[in-house]
Amino acid sequence: MSVSVVLKMLLKNLGEGPHWMESSGRLLFVDIESGDIHSLTPSKNEHHITHVAGSASFAIPTCIGGVVIGNDQKIARVECDSGEIATLAELENKTVKFNDGKCDASGRLWTGTYGIPSTTGGPYRSKSGALYSLDKTQGLRQHLSNIDLSNGIGWTKDNTTMFYIDSLPRKIYSFDFNLPGGKIGNQQVVADFATLAPDLGLPDGMTIDAEDKLWVACFKASKVVRIDPATGQIIQEVKFPAKHITSCCFGGPDFADLYVTSARYHLSDEEVGVNQPEAGSLFKVTGLGVKGLPANHFEI
Ligand code: CA
Repeated sequence: MSVSVVLKMLLKNLGEGPHWMESSGRLLFVDIESGDIHSLTPSKNEHHITHVAGSASFAIPTCIGGVVIGNDQKIARVECDSGEIATLAELENKTVKFNDGKCDASGRLWTGTYGIPSTTGGPYRSKSGALYSLDKTQGLRQHLSNIDLSNGIGWTKDNTTMFYIDSLPRKIYSFDFNLPGGKIGNQQVVADFATLAPDLGLPDGMTIDAEDKLWVACFKASKVVRIDPATGQIIQEVKFPAKHITSCCFGGPDFADLYVTSARYHLSDEEVGVNQPEAGSLFKVTGLGVKGLPANHFEI
């Protein structure tokens, strides 16, 4: 196994949301606070950035081209060539922002929110986030409330279980999943980072491999851990030369490589320069001996 830097020190703030596009051999990812949607074709060394006003908290291809993004309180579709943006759904509550998002096997988007600090410098608003889904027949629906910091989402291959991370309680949850109806129930704790192992930091983004094992980015802990959801135990771990590891996805030929995003967010220039020269970079892990599966696109 080896870890390499694909794009060094690229992300100004908060790299997130990697998504491999199988048909074109491209990796999409975002720099959330900068509002930048990155498209990288490693085989051609091509790199394109689409900028939007506000945040870009995830970017997932849609069935009619372009990408769906989380854009502050909006879910929007963006044409990557022109940057043209169209709102698909919008929250009235302006004290929250959309964060990570994924699409299920029917092309339904699942994405959650977190409470942003007040503009007057007040404290972080805890428990004011929620989890939503958006699809063309049922529109925007709220499934969970009292969420602190909505993050990673994934499903088992048989689509009967959904996994979900709320980062600040440091827990990974499972739900019984009804794909046709887009319903979740029977919430259980799969893993609790407070008790699972020392120095795990916060669970952030996640992906799932072809063996239905979870790969979870550990924010503040310089690693990605592979967790068996059947036991809740860590079965593999990969370390990175950056503290804030934010998310990961499988990609490349045969989905054998793990692409991993990181952040410079909340790090001083001194911390970056002295201890973490690779902070903010996009990494690739090869030789894991595990493969992923294609990620779902958005059916608009
Ligand atoms: Ca995240």
